Amino acid sequence: MDGPMRFDTKCIHAGQSPDPSTGAICTPVYQTSTYVQESPGRFKGEYDYSRSANPTRTALEANLASLEGGSHALAFSSGVASLAATLHLLKSGDNVVLCDDVYGGTYRVFKMVFEQLGITATRVDMTDAGAVESAMTDKTKLVWLETPTNPTLKVIDIERMGQIARTHGALLAVDNTFATPVLQNPLALGADIVSHSSTKYIGGHADVVGGALVTKDEGLHTRLKYIQNAVGAVPGPWDCFLLLRSTKTLHLRVQRHCENAEKMAAFLSQHPKIERIVYPGDESHPQREIVKKQMCRGGGMITAFLKGGLDEARRFLEQVHLFSLAESLGGVESLIEHPAIMTHASVPADERAKLGITDGLVRFSVGIEDTQDQIDDVERALAAV
Ligand SMILES: *Cc1c(COP(=O)(O)O)cnc(C)c1O
Repeated sequence: MDGPMRFDTKCIHAGQSPDPSTGAICTPVYQTSTYVQESPGRFKGEYDYSRSANPTRTALEANLASLEGGSHALAFSSGVASLAATLHLLKSGDNVVLCDDVYGGTYRVFKMVFEQLGITATRVDMTDAGAVESAMTDKTKLVWLETPTNPTLKVIDIERMGQIARTHGALLAVDNTFATPVLQNPLALGADIVSHSSTKYIGGHADVVGGALVTKDEGLHTRLKYIQNAVGAVPGPWDCFLLLRSTKTLHLRVQRHCENAEKMAAFLSQHPKIERIVYPGDESHPQREIVKKQMCRGGGMITAFLKGGLDEARRFLEQVHLFSLAESLGGVESLIEHPAIMTHASVPADERAKLGITDGLVRFSVGIEDTQDQIDDVERALAAV
């Protein structure tokens, strides 16, 4: 194609050109571990061994780099593997400033794996820039945040966090899993690294576990690529193929997730059995001004606080049918879950209480089914509470 592509075109075409040997329009699944060399050390392009590089993965990486407005991307075998690769940039004695309300598995890898290696993590409520400023020390090498956060959907000002990180000589990494590059582009707002669990919206069909890191800095990319190959948590070519098929509809899926979630949020916020909801696309959201500044729409995730406690939440979750009770999010099918018992069980109870992850908190991943069917399902289940 001549000239730069716009976002929707990039979803479908970036990183992919017809296969040079056959003209196949889709990048093939290069299901191979090794590549035949013409002469010792002389091989085609960068391909000598599939941990180091594989053409199906190369296409996915180029596609994701383009969607995030980066120059390079690296694909990993899971979202936590991309986080771990980022942490391998650090050494013993270094500190990370981390947002308080992170994905349970992110908290766990910091606490149970990297702390033992002498890398400390300071957790802060990043909706408070002053608190972040005071948490920074001369040992802080990385600021890691998720926005919107999981599961309380707080929205953190990426641009402001980038300024703070730069002032202290630290890198800013943003986990963009919830927003997706359709709604938010952290690199354009000053982040150095964007991380994804491509298991969620990027994959979108609940059939792949994967992760990715995107950068626009050559030096940083080279260091991360070295770690990707040295530590080795790479995805197989088949998973890369599935993710490439998924990104072709990412723009359509995410807009529909938003549309359905906006309607569900409006329904839930009026319902007498719901105490309150948190949805970035709703005017009532506490950081609504920041949402408007950095996201183009509210996303597909809604957090609702049911009146009552565990019994009411349990009853409700046993009664929904279209919404499947399951961990994970971001797929075409609607999912629902109870963070205190499910995804955030690895966060200690006192920490959960501090974060506001109460027993009445239910997290909705609104899928792309018919909106009225979704609302009917939730209405019927709430009636049974
Ligand atoms: C799921 C998730 C992760 C972890 O990704 P995996 O693919 O499960 O390893 C990290 N961050 C966020 C925001 C997530 O939702």
